[in-house]
Amino acid sequence: MKPQTQLIRNQAERSQHREHAVPLYFTSSYTFEDSDQMAALFNEEEEGFIYSRYSNPNVDEFVSKMALLEGAESGWATASGMAAIFSTFGALLGQGDHILSSRSVFGSTHRLFTELLPKWGIETTYVPFDDVDNWEGQIQENTKVIYLETPTNPGLDIIDLKKVGELAKRKNLLLIVDNCFATPINQRPLDFGAHLSIHSATKYIDGQGRGMGGVILGSNKLIDQIQAFARHTGPALSPYNAWTFSKSLETLPLRVERHNESALDIAKRLESHPRVKWVKYPFLPSHPQYEIAKNQMQGGGGLVTFEIEGGLVAGKKFLDSLKMFSLTANLGDSRSIATHPASTTHSKLTEEDRLKVGITSGLIRLSIGLEYLDDIWEDLSQALA
Ligand SMILES: *Cc1c(COP(=O)(O)O)cnc(C)c1O
Repeated sequence: MKPQTQLIRNQAERSQHREHAVPLYFTSSYTFEDSDQMAALFNEEEEGFIYSRYSNPNVDEFVSKMALLEGAESGWATASGMAAIFSTFGALLGQGDHILSSRSVFGSTHRLFTELLPKWGIETTYVPFDDVDNWEGQIQENTKVIYLETPTNPGLDIIDLKKVGELAKRKNLLLIVDNCFATPINQRPLDFGAHLSIHSATKYIDGQGRGMGGVILGSNKLIDQIQAFARHTGPALSPYNAWTFSKSLETLPLRVERHNESALDIAKRLESHPRVKWVKYPFLPSHPQYEIAKNQMQGGGGLVTFEIEGGLVAGKKFLDSLKMFSLTANLGDSRSIATHPASTTHSKLTEEDRLKVGITSGLIRLSIGLEYLDDIWEDLSQALA
């Protein structure tokens, strides 16, 4: 069966009630037939469920569906995207190791690199997204990992996965990609030589702005290492969230298809609007890395950024003029969302520091939802007016 069908039909086991929807295994622990079975499970002579910090049928179903989508051998789910990222570094790196990372990373990942991992002697060097040819020169003797996000947030810049994959292979480094913005429907980093693909399931995987979660996909060998760390540090995904994510995955291919179509259409309309200075969308021919995007992505995704004429004041006014769009920090929701980083998430930075990460004063980030396309445009055009 094709993945689209498997996402809908591969389910955790049913109970004796033969329910149609998958049961929710909302239990912290599992019972054993007798002391022999208990001993066998604890000694890993027999496979089975022991305790939900280790494994759970709903979590397993979610992970196996994600592994199917990413073309991965195995996976591990966590309580949030950040728990997935931290568990990965916690498991795979040690005192004195070095990370080479693209400069544009999610805010909390940046804090991890600059404030938290250094406590354990793990240092990070940032490299610009558009200079992959010179990344090799920044590799140190103690470099273990190359880390990146593509498309980047909020600039929607594209990093050449094939090139970085080849570099990682040649230098024998682990390549770890945060694939949250693209989703596995639009991009499969493992196909380009990445060793691990990480998601915040909070975004498109849930897709309806409800639960938080994360997942790491890769080889059995790497996932076993991550599992050994996570079993004892406790970032386990709730069975309930896993249950909702598994249901969400049934519609992920359809939802992403619509996010892609609507976002491309909105990007084109914005590009010809007189109040708009420029538009960034991976599948617009005007995007500086359009060719790379076409090579490594199946669709451009649901996010669009643009620069409004009039900078900070116009950006705030635009947000206040929206009637339907939600003002919220989330993305990948069925509801369209607008953010203005310069007056909100990045308002504490000086203008100079903001510009270094590509956040201009009038930059607006849109997460295009699943509403009727003309209604989305109607709200944007009245707010621009
Ligand atoms: C949201 C997000 C994260 C963090 O995920 P949480 O579920 O909020 O912990 C990591 N990377 C990217 C690109 C994100 O958008």
